[in-house]
Amino acid sequence: MSGRTVRWLTADQLGPHFDDGGPTLLIENAGLLARRPMHWAKAHLILSAIRHRAAEARADGEPLEFVRADSYREVLQERLDAGDRIEMVAGSSHGLRALASELDLDVLPSRGFVTSEADFDAWRAGRSLKGLKMDDFYRWWRSRSGVLMDGPSSPVGGQFSFDADNRQPPPKGASTLGLPDPWRPQEDDIDAGVRADLQRWSSEGRIRLLGRDGPRRFAVTRTEAQKALDDFIATRLGDFGPFEDAMLADDAVMAHSQLSVPLNLGVLDPNEVIDRVCREFEAGRAPLASVEGIIRQIAGWRDWVWHLYWQLGEDYIPRSNALGARSPLPAQWWQLDGSGVAAACLGDVLDKVGERGWAHHIERLMVLGNWALQRGFDPAELNDWFTNAFVDGTPWVMPANVVGMSQHADGGLVATKPYAAGGAYISKMSNYCGGCRFNPKVRVGAEACPFTAGYWAFLDRVEPRIRGNHRMAQTLGGLRQLADRDAVVAQERLRDPGTANLPSG
Ligand code: SF4
Repeated sequence: MSGRTVRWLTADQLGPHFDDGGPTLLIENAGLLARRPMHWAKAHLILSAIRHRAAEARADGEPLEFVRADSYREVLQERLDAGDRIEMVAGSSHGLRALASELDLDVLPSRGFVTSEADFDAWRAGRSLKGLKMDDFYRWWRSRSGVLMDGPSSPVGGQFSFDADNRQPPPKGASTLGLPDPWRPQEDDIDAGVRADLQRWSSEGRIRLLGRDGPRRFAVTRTEAQKALDDFIATRLGDFGPFEDAMLADDAVMAHSQLSVPLNLGVLDPNEVIDRVCREFEAGRAPLASVEGIIRQIAGWRDWVWHLYWQLGEDYIPRSNALGARSPLPAQWWQLDGSGVAAACLGDVLDKVGERGWAHHIERLMVLGNWALQRGFDPAELNDWFTNAFVDGTPWVMPANVVGMSQHADGGLVATKPYAAGGAYISKMSNYCGGCRFNPKVRVGAEACPFTAGYWAFLDRVEPRIRGNHRMAQTLGGLRQLADRDAVVAQERLRDPGTANLPSG
């Protein structure tokens, strides 16, 4: 058997677009789970996806070798020593690429995204790191690909973005969007085996799991991914756009697709999602604003943060703390337990993450990220938290999202201003405030909303660092005119960043 070429499939390369036929090698690396605390749901999805892929290959008679080990290196080195050549589609982290280079593997261009790294390099030519703008990239891709275009420079509907139409608050008085329950996988014997292994490894202290175990909620196989995509298109696509930014306490999923897991496992090709939603629009079955919104999330934002991961470099996280944020994450965050949190919005979103390892993007950005920004949580620890507490957290997806966009820790490479907002935004876009003991309009006293007061206290703290940002000039002008500025700042210094409570008495 020596002298053959074997394609190593990593745990996020499980779909047909990573396999060109020929012998393949799939490694279940238990060492990855042991490295850092990880959500139950995420660990389950990773193992379930790998084991399902191996079982399907066995059933179909595919030449796939499945190995369980504690490290990739030991298995790969053994194969190399036996005379095999190992090739792989380029890995999705600096660590994987370093390993491939060290072992001298044959590396093919990356897959699983809409644009290639060569495409991005061609687009980037001549632009400085600070001059990279997602919107420019997205427009370039739209024009080049012809997706939702009437001509080379004529977007369908006359505009490239329908963001302005896609910011509707939830329907008044509604507790849910009233959509059917989203598609859910049926667990099988493989899932039962995964659960038993995780319980055993956890009780032996070999791994540390976050949050709570629960039924598997996300697609891990090709067939499941196609069902999840069909279901999204049939039940949610039309409402996705308008309610993209809305939050409801009793509706965890809203009209979101939840396709990030199968996309990031590589069992769903993003091009396939784009083709399908475009066909829905062309057939008159889906509104343009929703279709453009999901395409921008996938071909715009997802591809964008992928490319930024490589452009920003391996030291992006350690070198990024422009706002001097050094507070450790409170216990409630690592425990994913919102039960003792007084802020209704924050407590509910933490509980949702604890239960499912998932919350939608506005809950991540405007509740969790906003709180972390206001309270000065350490951006590197926060990045670790988002990467490991979320089922779709990967080394490449979180840095630009968390360190750059949400925490402004890179000083403006990814986002031109800090994404801080007071309780008024949460009040407008959700139904949380009615059931909260705080009042989003109050800044001082027992009823003071910790997001509203925290917003001003945050600005007070970072003012010297963001004074030169012209996009913040008006906001900082407002801060200077705040009559109770000192009282707000003094109050928020005393607030517990975990419970959101002020000291009693
Ligand atoms: Fe959140 Fe403030 Fe509204 Fe309470 S009042 S739910 S803390 S925004």
